Amino acid sequence: QWIYLNGEYVAKHEAKISVFDHGFLYGDGIFEGIRIYNGNIFKCKEHLDRLYDSAKSIMLDIPLSYSEMERALIETIRKNGMNDGYIRLVVSRGDGNLGLDPRRCPKANVVIIVEQLAIYPPEAYVNGLKSVSVSTRRNIPDALNPKIKSLNYLNNILVKIQANLAGAGEAIMLNAQGYVAEGSSDNIFIVKNGVVFTPPCYVGALEGITRGAILEICGKIGLPVRIEPFTLHDVYVADEVFFTGTAAEVIATCEVDGRVIGSGKAGPITTRLLEEFRKIVEIDGLK
Ligand code: PLP
Repeated sequence: QWIYLNGEYVAKHEAKISVFDHGFLYGDGIFEGIRIYNGNIFKCKEHLDRLYDSAKSIMLDIPLSYSEMERALIETIRKNGMNDGYIRLVVSRGDGNLGLDPRRCPKANVVIIVEQLAIYPPEAYVNGLKSVSVSTRRNIPDALNPKIKSLNYLNNILVKIQANLAGAGEAIMLNAQGYVAEGSSDNIFIVKNGVVFTPPCYVGALEGITRGAILEICGKIGLPVRIEPFTLHDVYVADEVFFTGTAAEVIATCEVDGRVIGSGKAGPITTRLLEEFRKIVEIDGLK
């Protein structure tokens, strides 16, 4: 396995970053998780747009141009002979001193890892996940805007720990006002009376690329969509509830906080959206 590390390709066990890297010391950096389907980088432009926007927002200079980054991704995939898998692209502030001032970090570190993906087993897409709402709140748009895909994932990790303790596969995170924001690392949708709902990102959600693809598919197949805030009550009484994310794709949750959702299995709209999503992944990418 070859890792891209600041312009070089190094073997997995040789790929090392300094303990003075501010990504390590402070979580000062950004990342993307991207899928490779049949040799294509799915929604490459959308992921790179989000990466460069996150960088701009936190005033992080990525030492590669957009097209150089694209080439680095393609080359890393090629070197690893990867046809289907997952790309983790990380840009940290770089090596500095123990103070948090980013001016002490002259150059960002750029890492690209491609790997096989440990995804949910096929039956999970039929039976759905169990999920629980958790007490950890999603940070609302302020300095650490949820739209920035930063290396500060402690919130999400605490949420995952709470889900693990409850024996659930995913968590539902609320914002400080009690509106449903997203999962631990997935966006959330509900379906009620044939209408698909997802929270607006200002509620406290990452602008997920899979979320965007699903909204596009809904438009294409004529499913009405409403992007509006909703509460846990709306989740409990929904006909279907599902999560979307690069790794998870589209996965139903059929039990939320002990309430059975719909029939207790992935519903017809969730199943249709997953089917449509899997149709586009192999064609809508960068070779
Ligand atoms: N929300 C959070 C907090 C995430 O980390 C992710 C994963 O990237 C998502 C949502 C889903 O986004 P995407 O569909 O771009 O993978």
